[in-house]
Amino acid sequence: MFTLFLFSGMLLRSWSHPDRTMMLLVNPQSGKGQALTFYYNHVQRMLNEAGIAHTLIITEKQGHAREIVREADLTQLDALVILSGDGLLFEVINGLVERPDWEEAIQKPLGILPGGSGNALAASLLYYSGAPPVSGEDLLVSCGFLLCKGSVSHMDLVSIQLSSGPRLFSFLSLAWGFVADVDVESEKYRHMGAARFTIGTLVRLASLRVYKGKLAYLPASGEEGDLENSTPSQRATEAPRGPPDSLLPPLDQPLPGNWVVVPEEDFVLMLAMYQSHLAEDLLAAPESRLDDGIIHLFYVTAGISRTALLRLFLAMEKGTHLASNCQHLVHTKVRALRLEPNTGLKGKITVDGEVVQYGPVQAEVHRGLSRVISG
Ligand code: ADP
Ligand code: MG
Repeated sequence: MFTLFLFSGMLLRSWSHPDRTMMLLVNPQSGKGQALTFYYNHVQRMLNEAGIAHTLIITEKQGHAREIVREADLTQLDALVILSGDGLLFEVINGLVERPDWEEAIQKPLGILPGGSGNALAASLLYYSGAPPVSGEDLLVSCGFLLCKGSVSHMDLVSIQLSSGPRLFSFLSLAWGFVADVDVESEKYRHMGAARFTIGTLVRLASLRVYKGKLAYLPASGEEGDLENSTPSQRATEAPRGPPDSLLPPLDQPLPGNWVVVPEEDFVLMLAMYQSHLAEDLLAAPESRLDDGIIHLFYVTAGISRTALLRLFLAMEKGTHLASNCQHLVHTKVRALRLEPNTGLKGKITVDGEVVQYGPVQAEVHRGLSRVISG
């Protein structure tokens, strides 16, 4: 049965060619440190049975995958696949965008095999495929099947501008406040695997606080209207690195009149999501699709009780938090957003679960910019 299924998968698979190979990047430190064990126990056999040639690369440190991908000869590769958490895919995508041939490079099919503690994209892909939700090693095996038989679909990327440094490209989330704090503080519970976020949430609830800042967004429903007469937000001296942002003025300049400014300036969290899952068991944006060109913007205003916030996170396991009619939770679909946190107070911002510089940040969705092997 097993072999038959994989054999029929071979016929369907469009992304792999007999004379080429797939690059498989493994972060041995991801999750509970079991990624290599997962490779030898499951992945190697599945790929061999499906006839997918692959080159195994074990990363040695943070930033290693980004470097490898920036320099690799992509003509010999069918796909770039990671066995890790979302953080390693973030490196791969940003490595691709940093290449002089980024336009072609970003089209290279990407794949994800969940081996980390934050496996949000893997859970999202399984959800889009219509398969029942699973977690842990079952999620890994399900994603292995998707990879062996899956077809390639476009996936949105969101360009992230910070007040200094090059733009980043994000495939999952931009978070500030409560969620970003949990992301970072739960690092110390990584030996617990995906449960680290549950523990982190409970710990953070005990010291719930308010984050001050200004938030504005460009609604997804309104007329788009590229910025015509204003200065492009990318500095002219910068080498091109990904497509230009057409909706964002420079970060230090006022926003166009068609943007909505959120009246509140006291928040508990801001979360921008472009895929369905925030973690394996957190269905934050049930309506989200791979390449819908939409950023699901959520924010929770100050004044929410600990109980109400806990209830929201518990409801998120089933994706029913939006039906709970919590007065403090706002959800809206946007194409671009700007956040200016009050930097007099401490706080954190994460992009795809990775910490970035704390300060003003703006984001714009680039519909279907990348491609991913999905169900
Ligand atoms: P997890 O979901 O468990 O956090 P990630 O794939 O997100 O797993 O990886 C966590 C972090 O580790 C990322 O910032 C990634 O860039 C970094 N990283 C990648 N390879 C290594 C390595 N060999 N040693 C240490 N850190 C690494
Ligand atoms: Mg989306």
